[in-house]
Amino acid sequence: MITMPGGMCFCHDCMQKAFDSVTKNGLDLSQLQNMPYMNMNLSDFGNLNPVNTEIPKKNQVKKRKEAPKPEFDLKDIPAPHMIKARLDEYVIGQERAKKAISVAVYNHYKRVYALTGGSADGVEIEKSNILMIGPTGSGKTYLVKTLARLLDVPLAVADATSLTEAGYIGDDIESVVSKLLAAADNDVDRAEHGIIFIDEIDKIAKKKNTNTRDVSGESVQQELLKLLEGSRVEVPVGSNQKNALTPMTTVNTDHILFICGGAFPDLEDIVRERLNKSSSMGFAAELKDRYDKDPDILSRATTQDLRTFGMIPEFLGRLPILVTLESLTAELLVKILKEPKNAILKQYEKLLAMDEVKLSFEDAALEWIAEEALKKETGARR
Ligand code: ADP
Repeated sequence: MITMPGGMCFCHDCMQKAFDSVTKNGLDLSQLQNMPYMNMNLSDFGNLNPVNTEIPKKNQVKKRKEAPKPEFDLKDIPAPHMIKARLDEYVIGQERAKKAISVAVYNHYKRVYALTGGSADGVEIEKSNILMIGPTGSGKTYLVKTLARLLDVPLAVADATSLTEAGYIGDDIESVVSKLLAAADNDVDRAEHGIIFIDEIDKIAKKKNTNTRDVSGESVQQELLKLLEGSRVEVPVGSNQKNALTPMTTVNTDHILFICGGAFPDLEDIVRERLNKSSSMGFAAELKDRYDKDPDILSRATTQDLRTFGMIPEFLGRLPILVTLESLTAELLVKILKEPKNAILKQYEKLLAMDEVKLSFEDAALEWIAEEALKKETGARR
């Protein structure tokens, strides 16, 4: 006999059977008889079955709210000048881009308001997705990240280079929506009001002179059309790969703001060529080399130039707002070092202040850093 605390004695056989019933099949307390409390509802004790049948939290979808109600009031949407003022605290320069984006975002959320609970006068406001063009390191991703943080909406940053046509090696188009769902903690309602930023969009331009199927270029643009326009897509929850074990959910992309960004490296030449061609003869004619040294030539880009670059017209039609960012000058680079709320100099000052060291930079040193950064042509990247 085995003696247990409390004066209970078990024979070896009973002890073994009790262990087996727990470890093999789970202990079904309702089968026990002649024991006090056995008529109680077992669910009161929670799940006593050791086999965990719950879906892991990562894959759980938060339920949609019952009836669709307006997500926010019109007065909750910050006015464009407020959005711009907040962006000014973090993003240096790029005045034109900040203004255009603030107005576009304001209009986007007004449209969402109108569709979810505003007036029903039959006038439907079209989506205002944004195409952002600017040299590398000029702050495209930073601008969008800052925007999403200020508006407190989920943001997914996807890379267009990894996208391929469905069925080919690479990420499916829906994976960008999956990323947004993950950023929104699998809350479908929150994800449906988020922002998706697709970076390196110039890498999916139509390939020139190719006889093979363009699975990572034109086909990706074609497949993105339905997402940009607004459609219901089935996405896996908690993973960006579809398979039989991953639960799926439907996300409506109608209220998601899409921002596509890219450096469009040869676009400057295309714009310059077009502008030079159009300058004619006579007294009113422009000088042939007028645009050759224009640092802000990208701001003159039109959809025609983007089509020449390799973007298809249907795709450009779904990104009606064209925003261009300027390349950063030495003066702006110095400001970026010093002025934003989380400027790199402020970060290092704070780090060293913890060790009671006071860090200070002379202006000449900052100018030298900016000149070096300009030589590397990587923008404001560290
Ligand atoms: P890209 O245009 O290639 O997407 P990023 O947005 O990734 O460039 O910029 C790289 C980094 O440079 C950002 O994380 C940010 O710290 C800094 N940066 C770039 N532009 C600005 C700017 N205008 N104001 C403040 N910081 C900037």
